[in-house]
Amino acid sequence: MRIRTLSVCFGLLILVGIGCVATRRENTKNDQIVVVVSLDAFRWDYDSLYNTPVLNDIAVRGVEAIRMIPSFPTKTFPNHYSIATGLYPDHHGLINNTFFAPDLGLLYRIGDRSMVENPGFYGGEPFWVTAHKAGMVTASFFWVGSEAPVMGVQPDYWKRFDSKIPFDVRIDTVIKWLSYPEGRRPRLVTLYFEEPDAISHKYGPLAPETAKVVYSLDSLVGVLRKGLRHVPDAGKINLIILSDHGMGATTRYNNILDTLPSRLVKDIYGGSPVWLCNPVDGKADSLVWFVNMQKGVRAYKSNEVPDYLHYGTHPRMTEVVIIAEPGYVAGLKPDNQSYSKGDHGYDWKYRDMHSIFYGEGPSFREGARVDTLYNVDVYNIVCRILGLRPADNDGNQQRVNPLFR
Ligand code: AMP
Ligand code: ZN
Ligand code: ZN
Repeated sequence: MRIRTLSVCFGLLILVGIGCVATRRENTKNDQIVVVVSLDAFRWDYDSLYNTPVLNDIAVRGVEAIRMIPSFPTKTFPNHYSIATGLYPDHHGLINNTFFAPDLGLLYRIGDRSMVENPGFYGGEPFWVTAHKAGMVTASFFWVGSEAPVMGVQPDYWKRFDSKIPFDVRIDTVIKWLSYPEGRRPRLVTLYFEEPDAISHKYGPLAPETAKVVYSLDSLVGVLRKGLRHVPDAGKINLIILSDHGMGATTRYNNILDTLPSRLVKDIYGGSPVWLCNPVDGKADSLVWFVNMQKGVRAYKSNEVPDYLHYGTHPRMTEVVIIAEPGYVAGLKPDNQSYSKGDHGYDWKYRDMHSIFYGEGPSFREGARVDTLYNVDVYNIVCRILGLRPADNDGNQQRVNPLFR
């Protein structure tokens, strides 16, 4: 009996040993490819509200998260860079679409090329840098951070953001890159579309105009998917379709920022729904109190922001943050009826801010559905598929396990 137990143990040890060697070999032999596509502001429930046959098919053949939770603030730049690095904005430093960086003495604005291309703003290690360090070729048809040499590295092929480049040209270029001869062929590719963000800002998330654009984006994903079937390494491609945040309908305007007494405010940066504010010295409590007396907005001292938002500790943070409540626009002008019909940036507990995640390819399980992913998990997902050792990040490995074969 004892001998048998021992021999079983010995056999198990050998098996475990073989397993380790096999895994290690697998890792060094890893030849997988990842293509990450972002559909800006594609809300988590558009696949049930609207017609999305291609995404539905990806969910059947691959994996789907019912919702992906964005990071706060639920704006485009902080979130694309959280997806790339696995870090909360509070940890990577893009703390809003617009913010002042005292460390650089510069005001970051997404429309200011000299800021967007300044590597000093970008903390953490984006996945294309992790892949580059492992000797992989990388490519980006737009992604926040890809236009600056972060850690001295940019994707081997990259493009300066230009919304005039038609969506089909972007797809054709990605297919061309993936058809390059081995050695020049990228293993990691990002692709970005600024819709349905623009249309849903203008008309709102529930407008027929938004439904139409959502359907055409779904078809576009179909075009990309078809193209990917004909590239040399088609069988090794893992396609990820995701978004950075959702979109909420805006119905009320609050001119709180116009009414903030100048005796309380030193400076203020941002845009609705998130304003970063430095109070006049010693006036933080008065400012928070004043804001919280109003309807539709909430203020926190940065060291009192609720834990689940993971926000408020970065050295670039102002002393106070003001956040509009769902449905409200908090602007700088007196009553303004011309605000857009949709917006994002709000607390992610507001469901309309939730985003999408779909994955399809040899590394993903077939038909796996998870309830919730966080967008700081995507960095680990990409690293795992490519066999990369991830840099320190805020994601959770356990959460992503069910997605994999
Ligand atoms: P927002 O809705 O304000 O969070 O930002 C969305 C906008 O960001 C889109 O309409 C794009 O025009 C813009 N955008 C996205 N990526 C870039 C980029 N790499 N450089 C400049 N602008 C960008
Ligand atoms: Zn966005
Ligand atoms: Zn937007």
